[in-house]
Amino acid sequence: MAQTTLPLPDPPPSEVVSATLPRHERIYVNRSLRFEQVELVGFDMDYTLAIYDQPEIDRLSIEWTVRKLVEERGYPAMLGGLTYRTDFPVRGLQVDRKLGHVVKMDRYRYVTRGYHGHRELTKEERRALYHSRRLRGLSGRFHWVDTLYALPEVAVYAGAIEALEKAGYEVDADRLFADIRECIDIAHRDQSIPNAVLADLPRYVIRDPDLAPTLHKLRSAGKRLFLLTNSAWPYTDRMMGYLLSGAMPEYPSWRHYFDLVVVSSGKPGFFTEKRPFREIVGDARRPVGSLERGRIYEGGCIQDLERMLGARGDGVLYVGDHIYGDVLRAKKETAWRTALILQEMVAEVDALDRTAEDRRKRHELEQRLARVDEELRFHVAKLKETERRLEETKAALRAEKESGSVERSDVANESRVALEATRRRERRAIDQLRAAATRIDEEHRALRRHIANQFHPYWGSLFSAGQETSSFGHQIEEYACLYTARVSNFLRYSPLHYFRSPRALMPHET
Ligand SMILES: [Mg+2]
Repeated sequence: MAQTTLPLPDPPPSEVVSATLPRHERIYVNRSLRFEQVELVGFDMDYTLAIYDQPEIDRLSIEWTVRKLVEERGYPAMLGGLTYRTDFPVRGLQVDRKLGHVVKMDRYRYVTRGYHGHRELTKEERRALYHSRRLRGLSGRFHWVDTLYALPEVAVYAGAIEALEKAGYEVDADRLFADIRECIDIAHRDQSIPNAVLADLPRYVIRDPDLAPTLHKLRSAGKRLFLLTNSAWPYTDRMMGYLLSGAMPEYPSWRHYFDLVVVSSGKPGFFTEKRPFREIVGDARRPVGSLERGRIYEGGCIQDLERMLGARGDGVLYVGDHIYGDVLRAKKETAWRTALILQEMVAEVDALDRTAEDRRKRHELEQRLARVDEELRFHVAKLKETERRLEETKAALRAEKESGSVERSDVANESRVALEATRRRERRAIDQLRAAATRIDEEHRALRRHIANQFHPYWGSLFSAGQETSSFGHQIEEYACLYTARVSNFLRYSPLHYFRSPRALMPHET
């Protein structure tokens, strides 16, 4: 199909565009990107172009996982009767497979929250288990929850551990997690879950009316689009058809939006291994030496894709939802630019708005606490100095008493009385300040918890952990050039837009 070219007006500066958009429709920038220099835009499918109704897909995944645990792995039938909390897991958590805990870490791998089942670990438990040694070398023990696809397994893990232990079973936490992972994979491989989704697409998939116009706008600006998904062809075809077919009269089928379609791509291996592209023709597969528009390929690797499409690495923007499989690997192995789709941004910016006043109060408390600390240091120093002088005076008094100098003893005695009065005053001041610091600290802690609960009742904000950036937030900062809630947010921006990162400052520069 011939590409149509729309006349493009001069784009307004990025600050202006962003400021006029609701925050959940904005595209956020970690690393500046001139969109006009992007020639190829690639998309992942699941959770990127295809947005699932999360509670529905969670329920489906949980149902099949639990069924397989009971029927194929011999777990107690009671697991089938439980209600699993789909609101418990979020992205960016780590499963401690050894202890059966689910934890959240900050960017330094410091565990800031954790649960066993749904019971929160106390500060003392966290300290004893995680803070006495570095966790960096223990990565095999921790499973990273970095996609929305992985949330159901965490819901099942927490629910099952809690129920099994309560019923008196000896639980092998590592084995249980491995079984849950395998069961959910089997339910995908044997098509139990994909078939259920395809049988009722409107129930499981949210059709975004702005998706087709977004892709059209990019194509109209001369960009070539490609689809790169790990899903198999029949599923991809049905899903993409549901999302795009009939959406715009210019496009007879969903395939007309894309210059290249690659299914079963085996990411992250696609970025790291050398594998041939194979064309899918009916049931047959044949290796190919070139890629053509309108045909369907599977497998492949990044070098061949760039070579066959004649693409410059940094002229490619890849849009995906998987921080590891889509974004981190693309970023580490290639010069591709990356955009991360984070559906959670909608709730996250909403919570930011709702907590604006509380966060201002929190800042005020922090400043008050700093002032009290400062005063406390002053009075402690003064008390020490007073006590030192008091000791000296007492020593002088003793010496004078022995030498019989009555007159000088009187002077020293007066000074002793004054110093003792000062000491009493300072002690009182210190007691009062310490009490004030404790009060502010308690208020601050309660407010912090209250704010975190506005983001998520179990885990707080996705992007922060304690007073730091969360490990997940840190990965986003590190590997995603852009991040936004959904693909169609690109519709609000010109294809010539300059995505400008806010200038990053080192602590000494602020
Ligand atoms: Mg995906």
